[in-house]
Amino acid sequence: AAKRRHGGVSGYDPSLDSGDASRLTLQSELRQGVECGELVVFYQPKVDVATRQPCGVEALVRWQHPTRGLLGPDAFIPLAEESGLIDLVTAVVLDQALAQIGRWGALGHELPVSVNIPARSLTDGTFPGAIAAALARHGVRPELLTLEITESAVIADLLRAGEVLTELREQGVNISIDDFGTGYSSIAHLRDMPPHELKIDRSFVMKMCENARDETIVRAVVDLAKNLGLRVVAEGVETETALRTLGDLGCHEAQGYHISRPLPAAELTAWLASSDMS
Ligand code: C2E
Ligand code: CA
Ligand code: CA
Ligand code: CA
Repeated sequence: AAKRRHGGVSGYDPSLDSGDASRLTLQSELRQGVECGELVVFYQPKVDVATRQPCGVEALVRWQHPTRGLLGPDAFIPLAEESGLIDLVTAVVLDQALAQIGRWGALGHELPVSVNIPARSLTDGTFPGAIAAALARHGVRPELLTLEITESAVIADLLRAGEVLTELREQGVNISIDDFGTGYSSIAHLRDMPPHELKIDRSFVMKMCENARDETIVRAVVDLAKNLGLRVVAEGVETETALRTLGDLGCHEAQGYHISRPLPAAELTAWLASSDMS
């Protein structure tokens, strides 16, 4: 049951980091796996809180490992970041996600897609060009792409990240601050480098209905976002009560198991067809 709740994928597995040898094995398996097309992108829908209509999807990577089964990102993204494979992973996910957006567009579902970007990409001067090239290759308008970035020490280095963020904004790509409320969140960034969207960390949203402090934080972030003219998304929406509360607070978008688990593309296509798109 614990596995199902997490979308049927394994997350942290202690056997995966039980020593340098197995880490090295997994690292070379990952390189090979990426090249052999073993990365699979799942999609989790977001709904407009007021209308409950689908309003976008987040691309979440999994690794179909030949012997270990379907691995969740927590089992290999940190490894990819350490080993320098992360840029390749980002490129593969972006490519699959943009291709899928084109397919859904052809079926009449014009869905924006959000892709998770490691903060380190913001210090890479070639990153905006790579994004522009991927959009052009798939014929996807930049407005349909949101880059979700978790604030980190790297973003704290605003001087370097600033040029990359400015270039992305000028292209028309949307920027979302992921896991807002955790880590290195700084109000100053919202003034100097305004994103388009704040995504409230699921740790606050999941406990919002039992814990008054969590609800206060969610309310404060929603108000902050709205007063700054930003979109605000709540992730980790697991209950109808939470979805209603977010409606009362005026949160724009919601994502979570109560709406749908992350699904393979074909299953999400069926979900879109069955949800009221009229
Ligand atoms: P995230 O960006 O915060 O993504 C949301 C995570 O919350 C996903 O876990 C999703 O399955 C899970 N989730 C969604 N709804 C609920 C809910 O109602 N309750 C609970 N408890 N959890 C929910 P997942 O797919 O295991 O991804 C974990 C993290 O891995 C992501 O966190 C993101 O930081 C990272 N990640 C995923 N895909 C990529 C990728 O393509 N590139 C990079 N760099 N990181 C990725
Ligand atoms: Ca995310
Ligand atoms: Ca998040
Ligand atoms: Ca996270």
